[in-house]
Amino acid sequence: MGGDLRPAPVHHHRAQPGVAEEHHVLGAGKPQRLICQIEDVTARKQAEMLAGERQLFLGALFESALDAVVLMDSRGLITGWNHQAEKIFGWERNEALGRSMHETIMPLRYRGAHLQGMERFLENSEDKVLGSRIEITALHRDGHEFPVELTVSPITTAAGYEFSSFIRDISGRRAIEERLQLAALIYQHAAEAMIVTDAGNNIIACNPAFTRVTGYTFPEVVGRSPRMLSSGRQTGYFYRQMWQALLANGRWQGEIWNRRKSGEIYAEWLNISVIRNPDGSVHRHVALFSDITEKKQFEEQILLQANFDPLTQLPNRRLLHDRLEQEMRKADRSGRSLALLFIDLDRFKEVNDTLGHHVGDTLLVETAKRIGSCVRESDTVARLGGDEFTVILSGIGDPRRIERVSEAIIETLGRPFLLENETIYVSASIGVTLYPEDAESVSGLLKNADQAMYAAKNKGRNRFCYFTPSMQEATLERHHLIGQLREALAGNQLEVHFQPIVEMANGHFSKAEALLRWRHPERGMVGPAEFIPIAEETGLILDIGDWVFRQAADRARQWIERFGHPIQISVNMSPAQFMSGANHRAWLEYLDEIGLPGECIIIEITEGLLLHADAGVAEQLTMFRSAGMRIAIDDFGTGYSAFSYLKKFDIDFLKIDRSFTSGLAGDGSDLALTEAIIVMAGKLGLQVIAEGVETLAQKHLLASVGCHIGQGYLFSEPLPTDQFELLLQSMLEPAGG
Ligand code: C2E
Ligand code: MG
Ligand code: MG
Repeated sequence: MGGDLRPAPVHHHRAQPGVAEEHHVLGAGKPQRLICQIEDVTARKQAEMLAGERQLFLGALFESALDAVVLMDSRGLITGWNHQAEKIFGWERNEALGRSMHETIMPLRYRGAHLQGMERFLENSEDKVLGSRIEITALHRDGHEFPVELTVSPITTAAGYEFSSFIRDISGRRAIEERLQLAALIYQHAAEAMIVTDAGNNIIACNPAFTRVTGYTFPEVVGRSPRMLSSGRQTGYFYRQMWQALLANGRWQGEIWNRRKSGEIYAEWLNISVIRNPDGSVHRHVALFSDITEKKQFEEQILLQANFDPLTQLPNRRLLHDRLEQEMRKADRSGRSLALLFIDLDRFKEVNDTLGHHVGDTLLVETAKRIGSCVRESDTVARLGGDEFTVILSGIGDPRRIERVSEAIIETLGRPFLLENETIYVSASIGVTLYPEDAESVSGLLKNADQAMYAAKNKGRNRFCYFTPSMQEATLERHHLIGQLREALAGNQLEVHFQPIVEMANGHFSKAEALLRWRHPERGMVGPAEFIPIAEETGLILDIGDWVFRQAADRARQWIERFGHPIQISVNMSPAQFMSGANHRAWLEYLDEIGLPGECIIIEITEGLLLHADAGVAEQLTMFRSAGMRIAIDDFGTGYSAFSYLKKFDIDFLKIDRSFTSGLAGDGSDLALTEAIIVMAGKLGLQVIAEGVETLAQKHLLASVGCHIGQGYLFSEPLPTDQFELLLQSMLEPAGG
C-alpha cells in the first residue's frame, strides 16, 4: 500500500451503488489515475470486473464532494478539479487543468512559502505525511480572497508523488466565529453591567461590569435572585408592574434604585429582555444596566441651578412663579388670601458700588437669612435678582399677620450689618399686594408688588406700602416721564439755576451751586430729585451732566468777564457718571476752549463714591484736580463720614448735610457733631460749607462752632440766571450806590 494516504481495506464484495466505501482510486474525469494497486492476485479478476463500475462511482463521489478536490502533480500543475472547486474558485475545469495550482488558487504573497513547503516535502523522503488540516487564505478567480481549510495528502504513483487537496470554504463559519467572539468581548468589556437569569430568575451569568457596579463577584451571585440587589426604595407594586410589562412585551426598561454590596444605594438604568424557547416558555432573562447615579446627581444639580439662586440658595424667579401659581390654586380652594411681598434694599447699589461686590454679596446672603427668620416654614422667600426679594405669605386668615411680618422684616433689615469690619446700615422698602383682591395672575401680582414697593421708596423708604390701583397710574406716569426726559434736553426744557454759597458774616459770595431744573411743558417746574434717578437709570445722566457742566462753565466765564468778580461754580456729579466709564477729558478741553481757569469749577461728589473709588474713579478725580478744579463732598454726614477717605483723595470742601443744619437747635448732639466735623475738617485742611441754612439761629450756631460759609434759603433760593445776575450785581454795587 506504500505511501497511500490511508490504509486500504480491500473488500471482497460486490460494490453496491450508493454505499460508501473507502476508495483508493480517484478518478477525475479525463486523466484518471489508479492510485491504489490491488496486489491481491486472486482477486484481480474480480477487481478488473469491478474497476469500470468503481471508476464511475468514484467519479461521482469526486464530483459530489462537499469540498473542493484539487489534484496536482509534482510539478504543481492541476490534474484534477471537481465541481465544488469550480464553484469556490471560479475556474471551469477545462480552464484549470494544466494550470499551476499555486497561481490559480493562492494569493501571490503565499505562493513562495507554499512552493517551498512542497519542495521540502519532495526532498525529505522520510516523513511523507502532510495530511494535517490547515487554514489558509485562498484566491478566487475574480481576485477576492477568502479563508479555506485545506488538507493536502500526497499520493504515491508510479511516476512519483502527486497531491490531493481537499479545500473547504470557511468564510461562513469564520463570520459566525467572529460574531461569537465579538459578543463575548462585548460581554466581557461592556461598560454596562449584564446578568443572565434562568426561567426561575436565578442568576446564571454576570460580566465584569456587573462586579464593578455592584461589588458582587460571580460566585457570590450565581444561583441567587437579582432581588438580592434591591434597595427597598421601590414598592412591591413597582415590581409587579415591571414583571407584568416584561412578560407582556418581552422587555422592560426604566430607572431603579439598587443597593451595592457595600450597602450604598445607587441609581441604575435597567433594561430587561425575555428570551423564550420555541414553545413560548421563558428560557432566559437578560438584564443590562448602567450606573446613572452621577448622571442623576448632575441632573439634580442642573435642576437646582435652574430653580435656585446660587448666592443665597433661595428659590429664584422661575421657581417663585411656580410656587406663586401653586399658592394661588391653594388660595382658590381654601378661600383664604395670599400676600406677595416685594422687598428692595434701600441704598444697596451704593454699598455694592462703594464697598465692592463681595461685600454686596455677603450683605445679600445675610439679608436672605434675616428675611427667612421672619416667616413661617410654609411661606416662600425668593430672590428675584439684585437686591430684590419676594415673600409669599399663604393662607392669610388675619390680615394683621401681613403687617407683623412686614414690620419684622423692616426691623431686622434696619439693624446694622457687620461685614468685613464695616458697620453697614441699610433699610428696606416693601410693597405688598393680595391675591385674589388685587390681581388674578402671577405677572399682575408681581407688577403690583413692585409698584407698591416703589411707592414705599417714594414715601421715604424704610417702610411698607400696600398696593392701590392709583399706583398703577404712578407707574405709567413714570414710564411716560422717561420718554419725556429723553426729549427734554433736545427740547430746551432743562435749565440750570444757581444758589449762592455765602460768607455768612457779611453775605458776600464768590461761589454758587449749579442746580438742574426741568421746565416740563405740562407739569411746570420739576425738581432734580424726581428726574435725576431716572436719568441715572437710563444713562441719560451722561448727556445731561455734560450739558450742565458746559452751562456752568459758560456762565462762570461770562460773569467773571462782566462783573470782574472771581466766581466758582459748583457742579453736582452722580456716581453713575463716574462709573459709566465715560471719559471727562472733554470737559477740560472745553474749559481751554472758552478760556476758563480750572479753579472756577468745583465738582460735588458724594462720599460713597470715594469709599469704593476704583482706579477709574481715582483717575478722573486726579485729572480734575490737576486741571485746577476743586472737589467738594456733598451731603456729608449722611453716609459713612469716613475722614480717612477725604485725606486720601485731596478734597477741598466739605458740605455738611442739611439734616445737621436743621438739627442744630435741638438737644445739642448735632451741634457737637457739627463742631467735631468742623474741627476734623480744619485739621485736614478742608473748608466746611453748611447746607440748608434757613434761619438766623442756625447761622449763629454755625458761626459759634467755627463754620463760616453757608448755603440756604436764608441767603437765597436757587435762582434762574437773570435773577442770579441781579443778586450778584446788587452785592457788588457799593451800598447805597
Ligand atoms: P444737593 O447737591 O445737596 O443740592 C442742595 C439741595 O438743597 C438743592 O435741591 C437745593 O435747592 C436745596 N436747598 C438749598 N438750600 C436749602 C434750604 O435752605 N432748605 C432746603 N430745604 N433746601 C435747600 P434741589 O435743587 O432740589 O436738588 C436736589 C439734588 O439733586 C441735589 O442735592 C443734587 O444732589 C441733585 N442735583 C441737582 N442738580 C444736579 C445736576 O446737575 N447733576 C446731578 N448729578 N445732580 C444734581
Ligand atoms: Mg450739591
Ligand atoms: Mg447737598
